[in-house]
Amino acid sequence: MSNKKRIAICPGSFDPITLGHLNIIRRTAQIFDEVVVCVMINSTKTSPMFSVEERVDMVCRATERYPNVKVDSSGILLAEYARQYEGAVIVKGLRAASDFEYEFQMNLINKHINPALETMFLTSSEKYTFLSSSVVRELAMYGGDLTGLVPSELIAEIENKAKQWRKR
Ligand code: ADP
Repeated sequence: MSNKKRIAICPGSFDPITLGHLNIIRRTAQIFDEVVVCVMINSTKTSPMFSVEERVDMVCRATERYPNVKVDSSGILLAEYARQYEGAVIVKGLRAASDFEYEFQMNLINKHINPALETMFLTSSEKYTFLSSSVVRELAMYGGDLTGLVPSELIAEIENKAKQWRKR
């Protein structure tokens, strides 16, 4: 077996990071030598709640305790971004059948652009199957309790942002 570092890339919008994301990141970090969590600047998601800098900062704080996890951001295609990490694998979380269809299509496009790039999927933990950033944003906008949905150290920041958004 080669002694090359096994690197995983966990991409996403992380607007904001949830405990569902963190669960996938933590499990990926147990399997791979190094994990790069990449906050994607997605042109199709036009008005994110948090800026890229805020999202990166929140992911950094939430993953601080994992020594083999680093955080980056990218505005280029994931399949192009991944080229800088030779042999890296994309790791994504799968919640439901609806995720599968989208992810399958994304995987085919990525393969078309960068045939050497592999994607692996981890199934969501049961308790996070319903959880998405959009559920968190929605709940925060209505002043709902975010306990158990996002890292506890980020709750105040998310609530504050939701308050600002309500005033808009
Ligand atoms: P969201 O759909 O919550 O906006 P992202 O676009 O940031 O999330 O998704 C990044 C990755 O994290 C995707 O692979 C997505 O399937 C995965 N993911 C998001 N939420 C969960 C969850 N609750 N459990 C498992 N995987 C998840």
